[in-house]
Amino acid sequence: MSTVPATPWNARILTLYPAMFPGPLGQSLAGRALSEGRWSMTVVDIRDFARDKHRTVDDTPFGGGPGMVMRPDVLASALDATLDGTEGFSGQPLIYFSPRGRRLDQALVHEVKAAGGATLLCGRFEGVDERFLQARPVVEISLGDFVLSGGEIAAYALLDAVVRLLPGVMGAEESGTEESFADGLLEYPQYTRPQMWEGLAVPEVLLSGHHEKIAAWRREMAEKITAERRPDLWERYRGRKPAGKN
Ligand code: SAH
Repeated sequence: MSTVPATPWNARILTLYPAMFPGPLGQSLAGRALSEGRWSMTVVDIRDFARDKHRTVDDTPFGGGPGMVMRPDVLASALDATLDGTEGFSGQPLIYFSPRGRRLDQALVHEVKAAGGATLLCGRFEGVDERFLQARPVVEISLGDFVLSGGEIAAYALLDAVVRLLPGVMGAEESGTEESFADGLLEYPQYTRPQMWEGLAVPEVLLSGHHEKIAAWRREMAEKITAERRPDLWERYRGRKPAGKN
C-alpha cells in the first residue's frame, strides 16, 4: 500500500444535482480511494447561488429557440465562492463538459490527473451562457459525439478515469501502463480459467510460461486489433515507430 498523499487530488464539482455525487464514484476502486483520502470531492449546488427567491438558475435564450440556458451571473457566483480561499488551485483546470469540447482521451486524462485537481462544471438544459465561457478560463471537454442530458455523467467518466491512475488506487501499479492507449495501441485479448470453455481453448503461447514469447504475442495481437478496429490510432502509432520496423 502506498502512503496516502498529504494533499489529495481534489475535484470541485458544480452541479444542479449535488445528490448525484459521489454516486458511482462512491463504489469500488474510486469509492475506496475516496474513503482512503487519495482524492477528495467538494460538491457545490449551483442553485445556492441564485439571486431570487425562486432560486432561478436558468432563463430562456435570447433570439428564441427551445430550452433554457444557465445564467452566467449565477455560475460566476458559484465558481467564485468555490475557489475562494482554495489552496493549490493555480494550474488546475476549470472544465465545462460540452459536446463541442476537446474529445476526452487517455492523454487528456493524464493531463487532468497531473494538475492535482480540477473544477468541473456540469451543464444542464441547453448549456451555459457563452459569456461565462469567455469570462472565465474554461476548458471544454466532450465525452464524444453524442448528447447527454447533463454534465454529471461526463464528470463520472473523467473522475473515474483520473482516480484509477492515482498512486495506490489500482492493485497492480503496472495495470496503468499495460492497458489500452498507454502505448497508442488497444489492449491485447485477455484469458482466464477455465482453460477450455465451450470448445474454445486459451492460446497455447499464454500457457508456455515463456515471457518473451508471451510479450511478443501480446504486442502482435494489440497491433492487429488496433489496425483492424481503429485505423486512426494505427496510423498515429505507425508514424511514431522508429524507422526500420514495419
Ligand atoms: N444544447 C447543447 C446540448 C446541451 S446538453 C448542444 O446542442 O450542444 C446539456 C449538458 O449536458 C451540457 O451543458 C453538457 O454539460 C452536458 N453534455 C451533453 N453532451 C455532452 C458530451 N458529449 N460531453 C460532455 N458533456 C455533455
